[in-house]
Amino acid sequence: MTSQGQAHAQAAPLAPGDANGTTTAAHQAHFVFVPLNEHGHLIPAVDTALLLATHGALCTIAAPVSTAKRVRHTVDAARASGLPVRLAEFPLDYAASGLPEGADDAATGDHRIDPAHMMSYYRAVSLLRAPIERYLRAHAPPFTFPTCVVSDFFNPWTTELASSLGVPRLSFFSMSAFSVLCHHNLERFHAYDGVEDSNAPVVVPGLPEKERKVVVTRAQAPGFLRSVPIPEWLELGDYIERARAEADGVIMNTVLEMEPEYVAGYEEARGFKVWTVGPVSLYHHGATTQASRGSDTPAIGAAECLRWLDGKGPGSVVYVSFGSIAQAGPKQVVELGLGLEASGHPFIWVVRNADDVYDEAVRGALREIEERVEGRGLLVRGWAPQVTILSHAAVGGFVTHCGWNSTLEAITAGLPVVTWPHFTDQFLNEKMAVEVLGIGVSVGVKEPLTYQAVPKEIVVGRDVVEEAVRSVMGDGEEAEERRRRARALADKAKAAVREGGSSHANLLDLVKRFASTASQASAPSGT
Ligand code: UDP
Repeated sequence: MTSQGQAHAQAAPLAPGDANGTTTAAHQAHFVFVPLNEHGHLIPAVDTALLLATHGALCTIAAPVSTAKRVRHTVDAARASGLPVRLAEFPLDYAASGLPEGADDAATGDHRIDPAHMMSYYRAVSLLRAPIERYLRAHAPPFTFPTCVVSDFFNPWTTELASSLGVPRLSFFSMSAFSVLCHHNLERFHAYDGVEDSNAPVVVPGLPEKERKVVVTRAQAPGFLRSVPIPEWLELGDYIERARAEADGVIMNTVLEMEPEYVAGYEEARGFKVWTVGPVSLYHHGATTQASRGSDTPAIGAAECLRWLDGKGPGSVVYVSFGSIAQAGPKQVVELGLGLEASGHPFIWVVRNADDVYDEAVRGALREIEERVEGRGLLVRGWAPQVTILSHAAVGGFVTHCGWNSTLEAITAGLPVVTWPHFTDQFLNEKMAVEVLGIGVSVGVKEPLTYQAVPKEIVVGRDVVEEAVRSVMGDGEEAEERRRRARALADKAKAAVREGGSSHANLLDLVKRFASTASQASAPSGT
């Protein structure tokens, strides 16, 4: 076991290749990623680091031990394939931050931190600044002195890390430019001022597409950490906003051709560059690394999913998942299952934590549904290899909570979606899918479903689920049109990461632009 703040790191891999021939090893770009533990932030950040390494950069991923555990197998596989990437893991100082020992690594369920400990967890992670800096200054070859910090926007303390190292800092967003710009404009133009009712519709001001009016409520798009009136959260929200405003640019997991006006709009509003690099899930070509993205304890193997899907007709299966955080309430989960059953379509349904959070009555109801749909419906009671499933030709639609990664993964697979947002940017992602891209059918949820003081038991009835699934999976003209649009978007998304594509060019630009200067490459060791 390491002592507090001392990192375990992997042995250095072989000296990296030089993808574009413009930098020597000593002048190579070296990106230090400081991701967040949440899967929706962590998975795309690691994929981005691996893509940058593929294009000739050195990459260090610096994370708490419990976070590193989630992606170790992915990074190990990348290193084994010769990529110059390392995972530096740091133990948290539980005592100094007031975080109960091991609270970040609960042995049950999917290792989420109890919301009551979230603030002390962020404090504990921020205390890693000095240990990370010491580690980086020790530069184990070929990992030269860092040239750029790429930080999840939830780690605002990385402003101090980057400034102490004397290098630029980019924010990493796995979000659409559309949602980021909407949030930014709602805040900078004080759109909610004087609006008492948090469910009153408000037009998002200052959007580049004048003919499209985007209407939201404060409840749907309150801004980051603005929905809970707890002073500590609001303060952290302010700190995050300052750090975002002061960043040297943004790396965004989206596709430029899909939303050029919103990318340009955000660049203009902030006055810095946005490098769009998505869809970063396309880093994974091989089924093995793709299937193990984000979890070392999947509830079902990729091979079993593929076998099951192989027995189904093209485009016939609907995939249902609410991502890594949202959880349907006990009555809602049964209602959803009954809706899927009634739809008549084959389905793979991921029920997160199914054996841990629901009581025996609900578990029994789920077992009964499962028995009735045997052969037609597959229940996954935990982590599923999502991208592998979505990429299979038998899948024809996705009932999603509209997390941005899931939305972009659906787009990349050319799939129409049933949208069922729960919180944060998900309502805006729903608007993106339904109103901007025209590939979605909404189940009609109007209010955030997670973190409610009194959670509602059933929001979406089985009939609505059935109808939405039939509408997305059916063969009417509208359904065909949605499918055509989804396939065209998938073509754009795949073209973006190929040579000559916008994301490919942006990755090369990052590697070139953040190549080290001679003085950085030889910066002295030791703090
Ligand atoms: N994911 C997965 N298997 C699961 C649940 C989630 O692979 O069973 C992945 C999914 O592919 C996506 C990420 O976890 O990359 C979830 O991110 P998203 O933004 O969609 O939602 P969040 O979990 O942040 O709400």
